[in-house]
Amino acid sequence: MHIEHIDPGGGDRIDNLCLSCANCNLSKALAVTAFDPVTKEVIPLFNPRQQLWNDHFEWIQGGLVIKGLTPTGRATVERLKMNHERVLIARRRWIQGGWHPPAILPSTEEP
Ligand SMILES: [Zn+2]
Repeated sequence: MHIEHIDPGGGDRIDNLCLSCANCNLSKALAVTAFDPVTKEVIPLFNPRQQLWNDHFEWIQGGLVIKGLTPTGRATVERLKMNHERVLIARRRWIQGGWHPPAILPSTEEP
């Protein structure tokens, strides 16, 4: 995994850093926005420090493919090339190994 700067100009504060696979980090590069392929609008990329994965993405095809559910999700999937063939090759092996897809994350609602 890479240490990713969510906002490349945002410094090294912990709330601006997250773990990212090499594919996503290198695909994101300096971007903070991307085009939503459905609405054609420029949308801020998903921020894993401020947004919930399950609100914007879902696994389809048995966990092989990530589907963006919102403009943020769709723009992020496209910009980060989250379904690039090289990533699918790895995911197929993770699925075969029983390591993927990950469990649904718990809600952040207070008990
Ligand atoms: Zn990734």
